[in-house]
Amino acid sequence: MAHSAERAGKRKGAFWCLRAVAAAALAMAVNACALPQQGEPRAGAVSGPVSKWPSEPAHGNRHMIAAAHPLAARAGREILRSGGSAVDAAIAAQMVLTLVEPQSSGIGGGGFMLHYAAESGEVSVYDGRETAPKAANPYMFLDGRGEPRAFADVAPGGISVAVPGLLRLLEMAHKEHGRLPWAKLFEPAIELAEKGFAVSPRLHKSVAGDKHLKSFAPTAAYFFTSGGKPKAAGTVLVNKPLAEALRRIAEHGADAFYHGPIAKDIVKAVNGAKRNPGGMTVDDLASYEAKKREAVCLFYRVWLACGAPPPSAGGIATLQILGILQRYDLAAMEPGSTEAVHLIAEASRLAFADRDTYIADPDFVPVPTAGMLDPGYLGLRAKEISLTESLGVAAPGMPAVGADLGPAPDGAAHGLSTTHVSVIDADGNAVSMTTSIETVFGSRLMVRGFLLNNQMTDFSFLPNKDGAPVVNRIAAGKRPLSSMAPTLVLDGQGRMVMAVGSPGGSWIIGYVAKTIVAVLDWKLNIQEAINLANFSNRNGVTELERNTPLVALKAALEKLGHEIRIEPLISGLHGIVVTGEGLTGGADPRRQGVAFGD
Ligand code: GLU
Repeated sequence: MAHSAERAGKRKGAFWCLRAVAAAALAMAVNACALPQQGEPRAGAVSGPVSKWPSEPAHGNRHMIAAAHPLAARAGREILRSGGSAVDAAIAAQMVLTLVEPQSSGIGGGGFMLHYAAESGEVSVYDGRETAPKAANPYMFLDGRGEPRAFADVAPGGISVAVPGLLRLLEMAHKEHGRLPWAKLFEPAIELAEKGFAVSPRLHKSVAGDKHLKSFAPTAAYFFTSGGKPKAAGTVLVNKPLAEALRRIAEHGADAFYHGPIAKDIVKAVNGAKRNPGGMTVDDLASYEAKKREAVCLFYRVWLACGAPPPSAGGIATLQILGILQRYDLAAMEPGSTEAVHLIAEASRLAFADRDTYIADPDFVPVPTAGMLDPGYLGLRAKEISLTESLGVAAPGMPAVGADLGPAPDGAAHGLSTTHVSVIDADGNAVSMTTSIETVFGSRLMVRGFLLNNQMTDFSFLPNKDGAPVVNRIAAGKRPLSSMAPTLVLDGQGRMVMAVGSPGGSWIIGYVAKTIVAVLDWKLNIQEAINLANFSNRNGVTELERNTPLVALKAALEKLGHEIRIEPLISGLHGIVVTGEGLTGGADPRRQGVAFGD
């Protein structure tokens, strides 16, 4: 068995992979190749909120990209057609997303990229998570009485802005896996910013629904008419300042953003914000570094799933859910059945109990990653689940290497922000990348045509709880806890099977786990798996997606002890699955994404 996980397992610090390899060796021996087969459709269970959603995935034989906006997916596909790598296509798509989906992600934010190199089978993670400015301190989100301020009170303005990381991440990935020149990847976005693009109905709705955009003059001038109305869907929006900023970055690299006039303007906007002025310096920007990290990987039945490590909880929590579920024969259960929803919700409670207790920036607190992904530990956690009664609120487990860690309340907000791009290129290299400016329109501060993030609010507002420091408390230079879960799934021979991820705050974890189970266990194609009704449990209420067949499970789940809430649960899943018949791509109809392949 020659695949990256085994090699990764031999590298220092990646022993959770090695243990997983040992635990799954038997399964691997019996089924070394496990490309998902599309099974018989399961009547009734495959629908999301709208039954007429297309269930056919996009097909391709050479390459494929799935992204949140057709213009972004198109730019990525053009790069793939010009011989670009998966990383090249992801960069081009991300630059277009900065322009056309400004409410969700962009160069003023950060993210995580997982990369699969077909030749070596290696999976790497590029961490472009934002960092707290040096002036940040654990008490900055408390009011005069020592109480945490409201999210909506601190998000708009300069105090919530963390040092953006996206461009350093992309630059690092491009240096290692880019094929086309960096500058070429900016051409589609520059051209669109100059010529203009049509405001999408979703962007219009987000502008119309936001209370804070008008508080900041440059932002208001861009998104509203001179009469103060949100620019209508279809309005052609030109963004000359962004075109100019992108041109500089195309020509001089990410340095053009982190030093010089753009960096100075970011600092000016943050510190001079009319509301909640912050304390960022040009040195904060100049000293930002993206980090290459070891992926967290775990065998799920005969597949190897890999995700982003801390400071994102997305990888560990998704893998814990899968690791707990593998004790159960999910394939024998119907996708929309009470049994399956109960089981996945319970596994998710257990994963969130650990997430909220142990995970934060590993450069600041010891995170027991290996212990949390130990198959033996997950086996014990699985035993806590009863098929006849919900756990209610699950307690955290005691993974090995338990340090003196305090609880980390969930700082992530659930908005319509964040975006996910999946790409597989003609050589079989893959990218799974989730990026974000945190909430919708981030801090609402606009600099040179792009929005700055409010990622500081992903830290715990409370520095201490029950007399102990919270692991996700604010500290200068620290990365806030994330839930972003870009995921890659390989088969037993280390070959690419699936790239997937989603926006959705801490709900991301459930959306991604559902899609993986739907493809691998229920044999749905990637589009059906994405369409499949969402449900979530973040160690509290069980949420079922509104207007879906799942709503009918309410009484049965209540009988098992679940407290049920019916919610919109708007994921933005974008995935690609390698099948025996080639590449298949799926995009979430809950948003406006699309998958394009050739
Ligand atoms: N800021 C969140 C995180 O990093 C993502 C927000 C969202 O998906 O809406 O987990």
